[in-house]
Amino acid sequence: TIFNLGSINADLVYRVPHLPGAGETLAATSMSRGLGGKGANMSVAAARAGAHVVHIGAVGEDGQWASNRLLEYGVDTRHIAVAAEATGHAIIAVDDAGENTILLHPGANWALSETEIDLALELSTARDTFLFQNETNAQRAGAGMASARGLRIAYAAAPFGAEAVAEVLPLLDLLVLNAVEAAQLETATGLPPDALPVRDVVITLGADGCRWINTDTGHAQDIPALPVTPVDTTGAGDTFTGFLVAGLDRGMPMAQALAQANRAAAIMTTRHGTADVIPDLKDVQDSRF
Ligand code: ADP
Repeated sequence: TIFNLGSINADLVYRVPHLPGAGETLAATSMSRGLGGKGANMSVAAARAGAHVVHIGAVGEDGQWASNRLLEYGVDTRHIAVAAEATGHAIIAVDDAGENTILLHPGANWALSETEIDLALELSTARDTFLFQNETNAQRAGAGMASARGLRIAYAAAPFGAEAVAEVLPLLDLLVLNAVEAAQLETATGLPPDALPVRDVVITLGADGCRWINTDTGHAQDIPALPVTPVDTTGAGDTFTGFLVAGLDRGMPMAQALAQANRAAAIMTTRHGTADVIPDLKDVQDSRF
C-alpha cells in the first residue's frame, strides 16, 4: 500500500484571447475544471499502475467532487479530511498561443492535521510506502511518523523548496527530482546527487529519460525516454513518480519500475490534461514505440 500525503487541487482552465494585464477585466471564451495537484496526480498514477493507494489530504466543503473523482479512479479516500478552507485550486489562463499564467491557492492543502495522518498510518505495515511532495503542510511530521513505523519513504521534491527538502532529506529512501530541482538542491546543499544521504536518487531528464543513482553502491544508470511527440507535458513528472513508486511498492526491481515509469510518462506527454488522462497499466503494456 502507498500512503500518499498530498495536495488535491481544482485546475480551473480559462481560455482567453490574451493574458490579462494589470487592472484589466477580460471575459474568458471557455472554462473547464479538472482534478489536479501533484498529490492527486500521483495517487491516480499509482492507482492506475495497480497499487493500492490511500490518499492523505484535505479539501474544502466545495471539494467533494474531487474526492469522488479520486475514489472513481480507485484511490482510497477515507483519509481526505474536509477543512474549513476552500479546496486548493489553480486559476489557469491560457491564450491562443498556448502561453499561460497560473494563480495558485493552497487552501485546504495547508490545513492538514497530524492526528489525521497518524490515524491513516495506523493501517500501515513496514512493507508499505509513504509518498509525499511539497504542496502541503505537515510533511516533515508525516514523514517522521511513517519513518518511525518503518515504511519506505519516497519524496518528489516539487515544487522545489530548499528548506522543505533539507528538513526531510535524512528520512528518505527514495528522492525523485527533475533536472532543474537537482541543480537547485546541489546549490542549496553543496552536495551532488551521488553524495546525498538518500539511498536511491532518481533524476528525470525530460526527453532524455531518467538517471538512477544508488548512493550505497555508487551505481548510476541512465534509462532513455521513449520516442514520442509530446503535445502537453503537464503531469508527466507526476505520472512518472506515481508509476515508479507503485512498481517499487509491488516489489519490482528498480530498473523495471523505472522503465515502466518512463513509458507511462511518455504516453502522458501525448495527452492534453492532468489527472483525468493519466494512462493505466494496460495502456503502458499495449504501447508500441
Ligand atoms: P517534469 O515534467 O517534472 O519537469 P521531466 O520533464 O523530466 O519532468 O519529465 C518527466 C518524465 O516524463 C521523464 O523522465 C520522461 O520519462 C517523460 N518525458 C518528459 N518529456 C518527454 C519527451 N519529450 N519524450 C519522452 N518522454 C518524456
